[in-house]
Amino acid sequence: MNGFLLFLATIIGILYPVDLTSKWYPRPPSRQGRPVLYKLDDPNIINLDSENFETFVTNPNRDYILLVQFYIDWSEGSRSVVQAYSDLARNISTWENIVRVGAINCAEENNIDVCREYGWVAYPVFKLFPPGNIMATPEPSIKLIEYNTVGKKMYKFRNVILEYIDQLITNHTNYPTSWPVFDSLQVDSLKDLETHFQNQTKDSTILLLIDRDNRDLNRMVLLDMSVYQANLIIRRTQLSQQLYEQLKKNSSGEPIFLFMSIGKHGKSFLKLISSDEIGGNNRESITKYIETHFATNIRNKRMDPIYMSDLYKGLRHSLYNEVTLHKKLNGSQIAALAAYISVIYRYFPFDNENPRRFFKRMDQWMRIRKPDKILDSIDLLAIMRVGSEGFIPQTDHYHHCKSGYPCSLWLIFHALTVSEYIKNNRYKMETIGLDKSNSINSFKSKAQAIETSSSSSVLLETTISLDQDEKERLAHRKKYPVLFAMRDYVRHFYSCAECSSHFTTLSNDFEQRLIYPNSSVLTLWEVHNNISQRLSRENPDHPRSLWPSRNTCPRCFTPADNWVVPEVFNFLLFHYSKDHMVALRNSVPPLCSIPSSVFLFILIMIISIY
Ligand SMILES: Cc1cc2nc3c(=O)[nH]c(=O)nc-3n(C[C@H](O)[C@H](O)[C@H](O)COP(=O)(O)OP(=O)(O)OC[C@H]3O[C@@H](n4cnc5c(N)ncnc54)[C@H](O)[C@@H]3O)c2cc1C
Repeated sequence: MNGFLLFLATIIGILYPVDLTSKWYPRPPSRQGRPVLYKLDDPNIINLDSENFETFVTNPNRDYILLVQFYIDWSEGSRSVVQAYSDLARNISTWENIVRVGAINCAEENNIDVCREYGWVAYPVFKLFPPGNIMATPEPSIKLIEYNTVGKKMYKFRNVILEYIDQLITNHTNYPTSWPVFDSLQVDSLKDLETHFQNQTKDSTILLLIDRDNRDLNRMVLLDMSVYQANLIIRRTQLSQQLYEQLKKNSSGEPIFLFMSIGKHGKSFLKLISSDEIGGNNRESITKYIETHFATNIRNKRMDPIYMSDLYKGLRHSLYNEVTLHKKLNGSQIAALAAYISVIYRYFPFDNENPRRFFKRMDQWMRIRKPDKILDSIDLLAIMRVGSEGFIPQTDHYHHCKSGYPCSLWLIFHALTVSEYIKNNRYKMETIGLDKSNSINSFKSKAQAIETSSSSSVLLETTISLDQDEKERLAHRKKYPVLFAMRDYVRHFYSCAECSSHFTTLSNDFEQRLIYPNSSVLTLWEVHNNISQRLSRENPDHPRSLWPSRNTCPRCFTPADNWVVPEVFNFLLFHYSKDHMVALRNSVPPLCSIPSSVFLFILIMIISIY
């Protein structure tokens, strides 16, 4: 039997590359129909469409400016600006906490409504949308940038953005607190300087960029360095003659910035850093100098988006290389595998129909096969390999997950919990929005708040009471199965024995903890941080910071460095939702063909009969 299956799989594998039928399943060039002008996996440009546009533009939690290009894919004008726009997105990618860049194809039929509502009559056209809270005001200050005002000049776009940020900061007091302070500090003497920073916490590093006729340069450096803002205070200042006289000794060349360090005991140290020391007076030299001299030790990982390719690579590894390490699967292993496949089919953020179909068939197969039968992993492999393994996209390397499979498994499960939450609460999220007003610093106090609050917020809402009976718990588990499936997967298949046993211990009380709609998302976040902290203690040479860091989510922390759990929850929803993931590279070969689907069907039938 096994020999026959292998023979069949080999024949299909040989036939598959010819794939004469792939033209019947052309890969859509975009998530919708028409081609897009920007690569779907470009980390610097968000490809917007009718499905995700509103999520980005009208999201009240968006705390950055969104620059959107509305284009027509077939128009020469739109095409001619692609290079400048891509250069701009790369050039300002370090400003991602303040500005992000997106694009939408208005020739795509599905996008017409969005383009009519938000776009313009002539394309290409660009719009700057302010952060979500300003968008919600009666005068949201959306800025239209017409093509002829910027042409194909990257620096012109950039200047418009700088002016826009200035304008928002001047006209709105409620711009996000995570933004850098843009205005210039007035200090005339050393005394002034000390008075100004006297309340600064000990052990701080302060850099004052010196303004002359280089206002734009300094504003760009401020934005470039905004990612270090939690640890480094950077401001602009006018250097008065008096202050210059007091500081100029030991310094030659044009003064670029003033470095001020306040030590552990409150004593300050001052030094003027000049262009000679930096090796130039341009954006690249200054940012590089600051990064190497002041930011290397405090650099928090900049937030990478989630790459679909990492998720697919992790999925492939788990099914083809981990589950199948077991020669034969017993009853509880089969049940764990069935639950794993089922939650993937139901909640994985597929961006492609082929892997979805694959999991649908696998899910059906797991359901119809006789439950008491041992499953031979050779049979399982043969089923999965039909069509030369092409159903789950093959990708050559991990993008974000440099450490490989364990990282991708975490990402898969975080993405599943978020997708599970969103699917189960879509209606409430649309009508209520996410609550941001609560600052709750531990799960214990959160549980108390849940018990006592009459708030209508999604976060504090419960579907069941704390003294729920077993029946309610089971109903909840049925509605939120992801973490239970993860626990069983890790227990039965995760090939790191030590990890599996640790995780099993940490997840023993899931039945008691996973009782609220948002429990799975937050519990997995907490468990993941627990494990990272333990690994840090065990191996101090490889410290791991808690996630998210203050840099990546300033709102997630109180000034005393406690978690603001509702903000963490919002952040998790945002970071792990499908809309914010980088889609799979377009170059993946055609995945599913008619013959392989037919063969898979036949194979499933044969194995089911036996
Ligand atoms: C279930 C499980 C148990 C494990 N147990 C052990 C163990 O006992 N001993 C051991 O040595 N290794 C264990 N590992 C591996 C370990 O946790 C790391 O995955 C591995 O060391 C690689 O670490 P990393 O720095 O790439 O980041 P990872 O910890 O793998 O994190 C991957 C990515 O997830 C995101 N992230 C990080 N923390 C959070 C969070 N709290 N919430 C949401 N997203 C987050 C970040 O983007 C990060 O880059 C386990 C892995 C898994 C999946």
